[in-house]
Amino acid sequence: MANNDQDQFKKVLSHAKEYGYVFQSSEIYDGLQAVYDYGQNGAELKKNIREYWWQAMTQLNQDIVGIDAAIFMHPTTWKASGHVDAFNDPLIDNKDSKKRYRADVLVEDYCEKHLQKAQKEIDKAAKRFGEDFDPEMYKTTNPRVVGYMKKATEPTARLAELLDKEDLAGVKALIEELGIADPDTGSKNWTDVRQFNLMFGTKIGASADTATDLYLRPETAQGIFVNFLNVQKTGRMKIPFGIAQTGKAFRNEIVARQFIFRQREFEQMEMQYFVKPGTELEWFEVWKEKRMAWHRSLGMGDENYRFHDHEKLAHYANAATDIEFNFPFGFKELEGIHSRTDFDLKAHEEYSGKKLQFFDHEENKSYVPYVLETSIGLDRMFLAVFSNALQDETLEDGSERTVLKIPAVLAPVKAAILPLVKKDGLPEIADEIINELKWSMKVQYDEKDAIGRRYRRQDANGTPYCITVDHDTKEDHAVTVRDRDSMTQERIAIKDLKSYLEQRVSMSEWLKKI
Ligand code: ATP
Repeated sequence: MANNDQDQFKKVLSHAKEYGYVFQSSEIYDGLQAVYDYGQNGAELKKNIREYWWQAMTQLNQDIVGIDAAIFMHPTTWKASGHVDAFNDPLIDNKDSKKRYRADVLVEDYCEKHLQKAQKEIDKAAKRFGEDFDPEMYKTTNPRVVGYMKKATEPTARLAELLDKEDLAGVKALIEELGIADPDTGSKNWTDVRQFNLMFGTKIGASADTATDLYLRPETAQGIFVNFLNVQKTGRMKIPFGIAQTGKAFRNEIVARQFIFRQREFEQMEMQYFVKPGTELEWFEVWKEKRMAWHRSLGMGDENYRFHDHEKLAHYANAATDIEFNFPFGFKELEGIHSRTDFDLKAHEEYSGKKLQFFDHEENKSYVPYVLETSIGLDRMFLAVFSNALQDETLEDGSERTVLKIPAVLAPVKAAILPLVKKDGLPEIADEIINELKWSMKVQYDEKDAIGRRYRRQDANGTPYCITVDHDTKEDHAVTVRDRDSMTQERIAIKDLKSYLEQRVSMSEWLKKI
């Protein structure tokens, strides 16, 4: 991470704590690694992201319904899904620092570093050559850029091949050949690469001899697959249709050093879309576009997203891409879109002995549908929103402010109601306004400190609107509404306030932007 990025990431961590967004889990006992709690603002932000996703899926699409499956599932589920045998990460330890890394991530970071170097050269040349500059041409002809691009692409392809063959010695040799060092200490003294299963095991039952081994689910998707027929039959769904779900998932992550980006307990928002075999690659394109449109509707900067197609496909997939987001530590996976074929349903048929098929009246035959999956981490989305929103600004008068420009639809508190002074009947008017607004949005009363300081506090809290009740309010029955991002102020009649705010913060208005 460059120094600037590191500083920004540190700011994200401390701001998240200071403003009640994210706390270390069980902090009074010095915390639990890679487990986090969401505070009073964080819980609201998380809920709003979940709701924005849920409504976009199940309300805007007639052919998608939602379910809520249990975290515990029959243990055979994870045999069928392949998680017992193949849900592994290749890990490597540094003998000097005793730090543990994912071998594949070390190689990917190496590639990303060289991609950034190439991009820097291209940007420099673009400045130098001006309008006539052709970046594609430069990429293939400038020897230095060609060299960087080679280092940015070749190792990932080789890594994919090695992992496919389960050649762990080869992965270690690749790390040594590339000269990859421990990012923390610079040591190149590595152990062999080993596979490590990421599922958490637990037991159900009262006594040791009757207890059954269970796993905490490592993804929510399987709860959808095993309910495929229940939903299809009871909902009288016709192919193509989708099932959506949000919920907790658990993975014993080897490397968990990036705040809520990679946790051991996290939440997923997944949608499985069941289609006719042979049409899956068309639907794959449809869902790539649909998901990107959802992201873009939040206005966090189109340039902060990119697709990253997978070189190495998981055992169940015939196409896969990630939507990557520009986090403070660079572009990283935010969401996965996978064409999972009929792998899961077929496997569950085989292990359960039950048919999981759809009778297609048009075709007059039964088949196991193919599946398109969109899978996004709620906590990762939280981090994307939060880190993108946090900005330090120098204002025209030279003063500084810290502002959290969370999209208004996701902001924990939509408006703060501020009586200019604590007397003269102004708090009472503020109360009346709260009583009017509280039915449709979360608002907050704040009367402490001078008005300027209250504005700053709400800016840092991420509140999109401040509503000030002043002495004129008693005469003109209007209030001053200040916009967090532009800091412009408008006088709005109290009777119009609710619809003014709803137009700007309500989910239904934002969903229309997708
Ligand atoms: P990664 O390569 O980063 O480990 P993955 O490819 O294993 O992720 P998937 O299995 O495709 O991830 O899971 C779908 C989504 O769930 C990811 O895009 C991510 O947003 C989220 N996710 C996965 N693992 C974690 C985790 N440990 N903590 C938080 N979110 C996670």
